[in-house]
Amino acid sequence: MTILYYTRIIPIMALFLLAAQPATKPRQEKADSRPKNIILMIGDGMGLAQITAGLYTSPSGGLFLEQFPITGLIRTHASNKLVTDSAAGATAFACGCKTYNGAIGVYPNKKTCLTILEQAAKAGKATGLVATSSITHATPASFIAHVPDRAEMQDIAAFFLQTPLDLFIGGGLNYFKKRLDGRDLYQELQNKNYNISHFEEKKLAQMSLTPDRPFAWFSAKEEPASIIDGRDYLPLAARIAPTFLKQRSGGRGFFMMLEGSQIDWACHAKDGERARREMLDFDAAIGEVLRFAQADGETLVIVTADHETGGMSIEQGSTRDSLEIDFATNYHTATLVPVFAFGPGAKAFGGFYENTAIYDKMMAAWARE
Ligand code: MG
Ligand code: ZN
Repeated sequence: MTILYYTRIIPIMALFLLAAQPATKPRQEKADSRPKNIILMIGDGMGLAQITAGLYTSPSGGLFLEQFPITGLIRTHASNKLVTDSAAGATAFACGCKTYNGAIGVYPNKKTCLTILEQAAKAGKATGLVATSSITHATPASFIAHVPDRAEMQDIAAFFLQTPLDLFIGGGLNYFKKRLDGRDLYQELQNKNYNISHFEEKKLAQMSLTPDRPFAWFSAKEEPASIIDGRDYLPLAARIAPTFLKQRSGGRGFFMMLEGSQIDWACHAKDGERARREMLDFDAAIGEVLRFAQADGETLVIVTADHETGGMSIEQGSTRDSLEIDFATNYHTATLVPVFAFGPGAKAFGGFYENTAIYDKMMAAWARE
């Protein structure tokens, strides 16, 4: 009886959801109002060609990115180089300053710059970091750590004990456990009441997130696998993290950075197929976040990239499934990258500006009365 009942209910709900799609329109009109929550999503190395590759090969025929009402373009150069790395690129978003390649959360003079995540935590908001790299890798690290060189992974890990972080999901367990200074940061996080675990990726789905405890999860491998080798936790993390952070914030709002880390790695390897698959995985995570933001109505979602990687080009193929992808370099490029914004405060993200203005606009969105 019950099963029959649900099989009837689910299609009806699905129809209701479809019919409710235009309801996002009124929310977009509130795009200049003040968000309670900010979710910054960074596709590492995600330029227009990477997006295009996902777009034309998506099983659904499109991307969730297409649903964003506001688009912009940013210059990505570092303080000392035309072509940025992910450390300077993420620090620009985290602190609003141009800095040198390799810098994690520090100004060009190597002094600490206060990040938006740290400021959110100080203001009593909940905070979260999700990545498909080690959680100490340049992009997530730049939001919580302050070190002059991105290679100092053990020093970066120690910052996870300093700043209240309500949720983090990624790789890098050994930087917490097997340390030269003898500290066991995993144990220290447990002592701080973290609900913490390290498991095969499928196990994340079985973890229960109770909002009374901070949550940390490490992939079993030191660096999470590529999407092609079976990693599947990013869309799942994108589904569970915003709801968890909202509950944990007790209505004070939250800041979360979620990174599709390996679009970049695939392009360094000049592997077009892997890049395309990583792009689609990141877009699936975007879809999960959008669903939360549409229902929540108080969440500003920004999707952008720290830089383009590979000088990727799409040369020929079909619009459905086969693309010929080529690369001009195995490093990053200075090409402009796009910005997409959705939700209250989104309007400010239209236009053409510096990567550091992402920080300025996020802080202004929170400050607006
Ligand atoms: Mg990265
Ligand atoms: Zn890179």
